[in-house]
Amino acid sequence: MMGEALDKEYVLHSYGRNYVQFTQGKNATLWDSEGKDYIDFASGIAVCSVGHGNERLAGAICDQAKKLIHTSNLYYIEPQARLAEKLVKLSGYDMRVFFANSGAEANEGAIKIARKFGESHEGEVKRYKIITLESSFHGRTITALKATGQEKMHHYFGPYPDGFVYAKNLDHVFELVDEKTCAVLLELVQGEGGIEPQDREGIKKLERFLKERGVLLMVDEVQTGIYRSGELFASQAYGIVPDVITVAKGLAGGVPIGAVMTTLKDIFAPGDHGSTFGGNFLSTRAGLEVLSILESLYQEGTLQKSIDRFSAELRALCVEFPSLFECEVGFGLMRGIRAKSAEIQKSVIDEAFKKRVLVLRSGRNTVRFLPPLTLSEREMQEGFSRLREALKGI
Ligand code: PLP
Repeated sequence: MMGEALDKEYVLHSYGRNYVQFTQGKNATLWDSEGKDYIDFASGIAVCSVGHGNERLAGAICDQAKKLIHTSNLYYIEPQARLAEKLVKLSGYDMRVFFANSGAEANEGAIKIARKFGESHEGEVKRYKIITLESSFHGRTITALKATGQEKMHHYFGPYPDGFVYAKNLDHVFELVDEKTCAVLLELVQGEGGIEPQDREGIKKLERFLKERGVLLMVDEVQTGIYRSGELFASQAYGIVPDVITVAKGLAGGVPIGAVMTTLKDIFAPGDHGSTFGGNFLSTRAGLEVLSILESLYQEGTLQKSIDRFSAELRALCVEFPSLFECEVGFGLMRGIRAKSAEIQKSVIDEAFKKRVLVLRSGRNTVRFLPPLTLSEREMQEGFSRLREALKGI
């Protein structure tokens, strides 16, 4: 047995999987088992931030694997401390970092920070409520799923932990904050919710409002983080200083990692939180290499140029295909085009795949683009020329 049959026989079916077999990649190009090339505008859902087959990342992973992969958090881990230092120094945020393995686990850490913060509050009323936004996405563990403001995802798996409240929009958050609220958790650009950026002034106003009330502002940067927004964190682009930031996806270029960063530097005591794999030698060494690559890309201005070109290409598509698209949306290299219907959205993704361009689905009928941040001009041009061909057929 092999391929699709093998997968279907032995793997639990929780994904609507496409059975293309990718065997190799170089930057934003993938090759399948028949040697056909694809332009990757999805980067493994914002994970392969430095592209596929990146020599520097592969070299760092290889070198580290030969020395040490894992010793556990019972002992000092040099690249972990260095990666924490780098995240703090590059962001300019006065924080400490806890490492986990995924976005959901990072958000679990954030929720535990919020609850411990609420617990230690010296008021008469226990603070435990966490406000999140409708259409948000925070992960698949039971608590992260409950934090996710999409009722359709809460059908099974209950009972869920208490204390999550969903705001319809940013303005509604102000109304929902009460004496029992310990934190607000939100994405600055909703990734699964249609590449929907929050209003800048609204976010700044919320930051001030929450600080005055001693309520934590926690920003889920699992998708927006690690230069995807054009800055290391979208929070910087918004000019805010959150109390908690979570990251994952692009941080180690494909090696599983997650992290929660907080200004509450002493919130946890030994035993309060932990993770066997979190922050091990392999993932944090990979994270260090990824940040070093992306830092140069950012400082040279190459990243901004790619963002400008990519966005201009998408705007042009909206003008050329007004019967298919409403508008271009997004931030940095986290972008989307809003299709006029769910059927059109599906056709665009399917037809793009037939022309060998990978793009993603998102909420609000959005076709989502999350290319590697190292995407070359040639790959971008090739991807858009294939995409145009695909759209002509719809
Ligand atoms: N938070 C956001 C904003 C995400 O986009 C995702 C994944 O798409 C998650 C959390 C969950 O991350 P993971 O799948 O690594 O658990």
